[in-house]
Amino acid sequence: MSSKSRLPATLIPGDGIGPEITDAVVRVLDAVDAGFDWDVQLGGMAAIEAHGEPLPKETLASIRQNGLALKGPLTTPIGTGFRSVNVQLRAEFDLYANVRPGLTIVRGGRYEDIDLILVRENLEGFYVGLEHYVRVGDDPHGMAIASGINTREGSRRVLRYAFDMAARLGRKKVTVVHKANILKMLTGIFLETAREVAADYAGRVEMDDRIVDACAMQLVLDPSQFDVIVTTNMFGDILSDEIAGLVGGLGLAPGANIGDKAAIFEAVHGSAPDIAGKGVANPTAMLLAAALMLDHVGQNEKATRIRAALGETLNSDKKTRDLGGTTGTAEFAEALINRLR
Ligand code: NAD
Repeated sequence: MSSKSRLPATLIPGDGIGPEITDAVVRVLDAVDAGFDWDVQLGGMAAIEAHGEPLPKETLASIRQNGLALKGPLTTPIGTGFRSVNVQLRAEFDLYANVRPGLTIVRGGRYEDIDLILVRENLEGFYVGLEHYVRVGDDPHGMAIASGINTREGSRRVLRYAFDMAARLGRKKVTVVHKANILKMLTGIFLETAREVAADYAGRVEMDDRIVDACAMQLVLDPSQFDVIVTTNMFGDILSDEIAGLVGGLGLAPGANIGDKAAIFEAVHGSAPDIAGKGVANPTAMLLAAALMLDHVGQNEKATRIRAALGETLNSDKKTRDLGGTTGTAEFAEALINRLR
């Protein structure tokens, strides 16, 4: 990328192993000339120590201005009354699509060639927090009731995101996952809207649909039949972790939270306080998040190079400790950079 077209982006190194893996990721991104101009900001415990809050207004202003952020893991302070930073970011920037790819990167696992992307609706469904108890006899909590909300508009924008992404990345099929046989309205509205949206992509991206329970089973039996999956909030929450399990666990899983005005990329794992500062953390998940960020800004070729180099490095003798090797974070980054040059 030429210096003229450099892209400003917010970088939140985060807590625990965050700064170590962020350092590795920035060096690898430099090696492919990714062209991001980083505005480094605080979040999590580091921000509480400096500003008294986990998401300072400077950090929010930077994300608002750049519309693009790469975030390290943040330690959630327990028992302090602070809202989860992730929930706060989703709400603040209306991040309606959660993107979780499942890619086989370490060989020798259960499946060799998984390459699918799950898109989860991130703001609606059963996660809207509409719950209450009802008295039954003497028991004031004798019954619990939760309501889910799916809107046609909320469904349309995440479906449109999934189909657009599929078309942009040259993916052939979007599978819409639902439970419209039972939750006829709540998830029926999602399926109906999907059929409308899919019509606009006819000839470019094919659509099919699955009931969530059957999809969960088919993912285990034969994940290669899936390409892009799009689904409502709770089904997506569950299936995305299932998919992470198919490709080697949460330690290798990246995620993206996408809205119309901002997109935030991160590793799915946490700040790993048990190994923080020891130089042994595996930067793969955050690197895969950075690759998603490159895909998002149309730099697919650089993203593909990073994924390929990661695959080669992780399948050589350069394995980090969590994968049974002895390679440290900095040495692992160096091995990757040598492959990328
Ligand atoms: P964790 O993911 O931090 O750690 C679980 C285990 O996995 C630990 O043994 C850790 O050493 C290991 N691990 C995680 N990432 C690794 C990596 N990159 N390389 C090598 N090993 C790795 O989960 P936890 O211990 O439950 O949470 C610790 C903190 O992280 C908590 O404060 C939690 O709230 C926070 N957290 C943040 C996010 C986020 O910011 N997205 C996500 C999950 C947890």
